Amino acid sequence: MKPSPVKSTIDFGQDGLQHGFLKLPHSHDESAYGSVMIPISMAKNGEGPTALLTGGNHGDEYEGPIALFDLARTIDPRQIRGRVILVPAMNYPAFQAGKRTSPIDSGNMNRSFPGNPEGSITEKITDYFQRTLLPLAEWVLDLHSGGKTLDFLPFCAAHRLEDKQQEQRCAEAMRAFNAPYSMMLLEIDSVGMYDTAAEAMGKVFITTELGGKGTATAETVSIAKRGILNFLIHAGILEGSPELRS
Ligand SMILES: [Zn+2]
Repeated sequence: MKPSPVKSTIDFGQDGLQHGFLKLPHSHDESAYGSVMIPISMAKNGEGPTALLTGGNHGDEYEGPIALFDLARTIDPRQIRGRVILVPAMNYPAFQAGKRTSPIDSGNMNRSFPGNPEGSITEKITDYFQRTLLPLAEWVLDLHSGGKTLDFLPFCAAHRLEDKQQEQRCAEAMRAFNAPYSMMLLEIDSVGMYDTAAEAMGKVFITTELGGKGTATAETVSIAKRGILNFLIHAGILEGSPELRS
């Protein structure tokens, strides 16, 4: 398969805190030599596990981006062991537009895996996750909410999997996230999902639905922030004991 057209401005092997972009060339009417610039941050401190934390898979779901952009500003690499890779707005064109799907190619990121390095803009981004970012991580958390068309009771979920040991590890991570509700999901339309791509690689994968109505609340954002820290503690990346709901 062709190499990805996406180039990262951060070095995944370097210790410390880095902020940069995943740069994807996109020639269009307003910018002939333009690029889609997807924000990425990474904190690394020596050897250890890697967590990949994502939001904005759908661009009208805000708890993930709010919590992850905040964590990117505040994370101290001296307080972690291993790596935390943050992509707060995976489908950045959709996030900028406040839409579920990409305004460039109408791509629904969570139906576009494993992607294609020669495909649409959305497929080029998913291909980069499939072949570059997911292989770096053992622990994967993707934060969703209901967007403009749904309103969820806030929950964290893991999937029913054929590999029962992997399912158990995912369920333990779901409980560690400690959302107000936890749910084991049997996905009936799993083709093309990021979830499925991560699980097929044997990762510990959990996801959330934290609200919706095309907005976010202080309560649902705080659930995201607390859950992310609990997940990193559970993964052995952050020290401490999980912060429980009051
Ligand atoms: Zn979503």
